[in-house]
Amino acid sequence: MATAAARSREDVLARYEPVIGLEVHVQLLTATKIFCSCRNRFGDEPNTNVCPVCLGLPGALPVLSRRAVTLALRAALATQCTVQEVSVFARKNYFYPDLPKGYQISQYERPLATKGRLAIPQRTVRIDRIHMEEDAGKLLHEGYAWSDGKSGVDFNRSGVPLIEIVSAPDMRSAEEAHEYLTALKAVLRHAEVSDCNMEEGSLRCDANVSVRPRGSEELGTRTEIKNLNSFRNVARAIEHETVRQVLLIESGGRVVQETRLWNDGRGETAPMRSKEEAHDYRYFPEPDLPPLVVTREWIDAVAAALPELPAARRLRFVGEYGLPDYDAGVLTATREVADYFETVARESGSAKAASNWVMNEVLRKVNEAAGSGEAVLAACPVAPASLAAMIRLVESGTLSGTMAKDVFDRMWATGEPPGAIVEREGLGQVSDEASLRAAVAEVVAKSPDQVAAYRKGKTSTLGWFVGQVMRSTGGKANPQLVNRLLKEALAETP
Ligand SMILES: [Zn+2]
Repeated sequence: MATAAARSREDVLARYEPVIGLEVHVQLLTATKIFCSCRNRFGDEPNTNVCPVCLGLPGALPVLSRRAVTLALRAALATQCTVQEVSVFARKNYFYPDLPKGYQISQYERPLATKGRLAIPQRTVRIDRIHMEEDAGKLLHEGYAWSDGKSGVDFNRSGVPLIEIVSAPDMRSAEEAHEYLTALKAVLRHAEVSDCNMEEGSLRCDANVSVRPRGSEELGTRTEIKNLNSFRNVARAIEHETVRQVLLIESGGRVVQETRLWNDGRGETAPMRSKEEAHDYRYFPEPDLPPLVVTREWIDAVAAALPELPAARRLRFVGEYGLPDYDAGVLTATREVADYFETVARESGSAKAASNWVMNEVLRKVNEAAGSGEAVLAACPVAPASLAAMIRLVESGTLSGTMAKDVFDRMWATGEPPGAIVEREGLGQVSDEASLRAAVAEVVAKSPDQVAAYRKGKTSTLGWFVGQVMRSTGGKANPQLVNRLLKEALAETP
């Protein structure tokens, strides 16, 4: 049955193509909320970061946070959008228990920024608009102190600043949607606009999906999929929705414009409500806020402070450090990893070794430590300066490659610098020529028969001699040096 399903999926994708646009909500990394001075922080006790403004009490007036606008401008410039000199906040009216005012302050007809773009490996995806808005509160259904079968609402999130980044319907596969989200997250994190932590809800994504026969330019009727809680589920939901729509059309049905919910457990989408139209929200300009005017100077200041972005950094890593493009991509996925790598590369003097250690050991251990959660480099107990010091010990011959892995594990466990570990555990490789020469001489003196055979031309026994010296030094001798000294000693005729 699985095979039949896979076959029908392949068959469907050969004849139809999905047309995908993504709407991504991102919480901004501000200290305060967008219209009041309440703290913007995830994980605090429910309803402790609230005031008359974010509780929507009558008479309370919003004041726009300049910091929130600055971060929204960063996002706009980082995605090559055109910033609008004047944008306008509007009221989006609807009723929901997590929305105390009965409306959400958002931008509608005149958003902050328009017409940007973001490159993914397959194509450049256009960004239609970026607008600012406030987040709603959060309904709690289980797992909180007073949940004896009741639901609660936490207004700590009410008024947290958001931007919504709306792409054009430019993506043509679930994989492209995944690439787009990955690239967008990397850009926003590099620019320090948001931590983009999907588990904590600071990045949320809705997908608009329609299908059309391959070769057709016409757009089909789209559905909007919500409740997508991981990049992987975005891709799964798009695949499922694509096949559902095609099978529906081919059986003579019609796709209805509606909002559908992704059900992770069942691996399918199900209807939630018929898609609302803009007029359902009775948008009108927010009377309590003047139009937002962004001056040229403000934009220039934000542009000047924008750090190097992932695409540019990736290119630079290839050119400056001679890394393969794939490696440069892995190392620039987040700003933390890119910064970590550059520090190690600079301080160790070996970019190649730095990239090998970061990609193979550091990221592997960070991922292991994170389990199913999000891997964050902040959890890495090995400081970049320590890793660089360890690489220098390998390059100088003090540590062999095998010893280095062992030392790295101890650095990870204790957070100590490599020098201290090597000294305490007596792990250093012996590269002292005088003491190794003595060890070699001892082995040569104890093995007259083997020496005689070697000198008669049985040079294949060199490995045996190396083994003897390694044994007598407890495996710590620098093998290259032992090789050279043995060849010298064995070449001498008595
Ligand atoms: Zn407040």
